Amino acid sequence: MQQITKNVYTDTTIRGCNPSIVFTTEGSVFVDTAQILSKLLEMRTFALERGPIRYLINTEAHIDHIFGNHWFANEAITVGHEKLADDLWKVPGPLDAYDYSIDVLERQDKEALDKMPPRGEYIMMERPDITFTDHMSIKLGDTHFELYHTPGHSACQTAVYVPEERVAILGDTLFVDCQTWLHSADIDALLKSLDFVDTLDVDYLIPGHGPVVKKDYVAKQRAFIYEWLGAVSAGISKGWSVDECVANISFADRCPMDIGQPEMMEYVQVNNVIKCYNYLMGTNHPLRLGAN
Ligand SMILES: [Zn+2]
Repeated sequence: MQQITKNVYTDTTIRGCNPSIVFTTEGSVFVDTAQILSKLLEMRTFALERGPIRYLINTEAHIDHIFGNHWFANEAITVGHEKLADDLWKVPGPLDAYDYSIDVLERQDKEALDKMPPRGEYIMMERPDITFTDHMSIKLGDTHFELYHTPGHSACQTAVYVPEERVAILGDTLFVDCQTWLHSADIDALLKSLDFVDTLDVDYLIPGHGPVVKKDYVAKQRAFIYEWLGAVSAGISKGWSVDECVANISFADRCPMDIGQPEMMEYVQVNNVIKCYNYLMGTNHPLRLGAN
């Protein structure tokens, strides 16, 4: 775990999202939960040693952000956008979310497998106790949490701005130095949300994936999305079909996948092309598992 400011911690070194903790004088607030269970339990212990865990905010409904919610049941008040429960991602392939998570643990966190509850007892808590529509403020101790709906990467996307710490925790509105997933994106909304992030008065942005950055990274993320659109647009202008775009366009050599998921590279390349193609052509080609 890294300490970002006096009261904000995150872990950008593990597979899955960057789970974060904000400490206040009245207890802590978690923002997203780790997919690597042993790390999640370490973070919980670290927080509980300093006081109660009061809130759990989820920035989105993708499995790597909500997998660990189970371990906060009956402990923290859960908070998220009103669309969170309707925005669950069907993980690619034959596995459901539970088996997908078991598979991740088997491959990357074997020692924590025996702490995983049986299927019938596992609760993802995808329906937050408190929901909001556009903006919500939470005050805990002397700390304010300003939650903003920042749709784009996903429909329920939420940014958590903590003015006293001059930090914003963005979930997957920002991918830093790793592949950007557009598989569930509303591209216009995403660009607009990046413009909004630019207006926040912060020293640090905690992305969904990759290292913590300053605000100047927002321009890079925006440019990368335009590059994706540009590449697919160039294909379309050559008369390429969606299949030809999928076959010929890849940003795989530009940067790695986030930690621990190189196997998802093809999925991201193929579906980013399809999302950009649909955006540019007004078509509705479905996502695919891979190139074929
Ligand atoms: Zn995501």
